[in-house]
Amino acid sequence: LGFVPRGRQRTPKLDKLTKEIQLNMKNSAPGPTFEQDREAVRVRLQDIVTRCNSFPSGTELHVFGSSKNGFGAPNSDLDMCLAVPEGSDIGDPAQVMGRLAEDLEREGMLEVSARLTARIPIVMFTDGLTKIECDISLQNPLAVHNTGLLATYAGCDVRVREIAYAVKRWVKAREINSPSDGTLSSYGYVLMLIHYLQRTPGSPVVPNLQSIAASWSGEPSKVYEGEREAKLRYVQHPTEPNSRVNCYYYKPKGEKERGRLKDLSMRNRESSGNLLAGFFHYYGFEFDFRKHVVSLSPQMLEKDLMGEVHCWPCHLGLTIQDPFETFYNVGHVVKLWQFHRIRREFARAYTVLTEGGGLDMLCEKPEEV
Ligand code: ATP
Ligand code: MG
Repeated sequence: LGFVPRGRQRTPKLDKLTKEIQLNMKNSAPGPTFEQDREAVRVRLQDIVTRCNSFPSGTELHVFGSSKNGFGAPNSDLDMCLAVPEGSDIGDPAQVMGRLAEDLEREGMLEVSARLTARIPIVMFTDGLTKIECDISLQNPLAVHNTGLLATYAGCDVRVREIAYAVKRWVKAREINSPSDGTLSSYGYVLMLIHYLQRTPGSPVVPNLQSIAASWSGEPSKVYEGEREAKLRYVQHPTEPNSRVNCYYYKPKGEKERGRLKDLSMRNRESSGNLLAGFFHYYGFEFDFRKHVVSLSPQMLEKDLMGEVHCWPCHLGLTIQDPFETFYNVGHVVKLWQFHRIRREFARAYTVLTEGGGLDMLCEKPEEV
């Protein structure tokens, strides 16, 4: 790159960038009926699932991902999963999902296809009425919980969403947001962003929602054990039948509690432009990927540390700890050569922004190689 930054820069150019970031969110974020419209699709599909009888009665269809996490766009796909009542036997998951695919086709869904042998079997299709691209997976409760967690982070401060929309536009434009090509999912990038926003210089932009007690009185990082224990929510581990995952996080109740979270964020007064540049600098030049794990945990986790991550492969690439499934590396799909590309993209992004390039230049299509 030929550019070595001497610490992070703060320039008037970044004020202009802040305005661009705000405008970008205004143009990318969906309208006020977005969640309601998608809920209507879910209700229709739930009705199909119930009527067709391929699943035990009481099976529920849940929405997760960008339709509900605060980072969606009008053209985002609609991710859903089926929750079968605990204790009921559905037989062979591949077979039952195959039947679901047939049911959906019969009921007017378009371009139905399925990946039945995946770790979590999935049926993909286009809704016949709204033409929204949908997919339904089986038993994926953690996805519903991590969607709620991200939505709560999104609600902490408007800058979280502003920066996330800019990052999502950047990763798509620079072609580093495709797990099937060995790059990282949007979920992974949002986790990287939250990790950074929890560590911004001065005051964090977002607290750690998993270590705020349910009976929070204002200051984060003090877990009131008694209350917290009472509020722990455990979910069946996706691959280990005898193990359960703690999915607790602080969910503000009502305007007053939401206001408290916002006040906390406001202790950090950096502009979105500065924060975005800081995010790129952090992963482009500061973060030690060989040594550290990107994690929402209050401590900086070391890859080779004995403890929570001791059994993870100590490879050279990107390690992102899932906030709930703490032994799972969200970055495991990222190929090493793609990881090096991603790192170079972070460094390039910082250079572009601090040289006044703005969002359009940041999101230019990469040159063909
Ligand atoms: P987009 O608008 O790009 O579709 P999205 O917010 O829906 O973004 P995705 O990356 O599609 O984000 O993730 C949706 C959900 O899928 C997440 O909430 C998460 O549960 C799950 N997910 C995505 N990537 C991974 C991963 N690498 N490992 C585990 N779960 C993942
Ligand atoms: Mg999605």
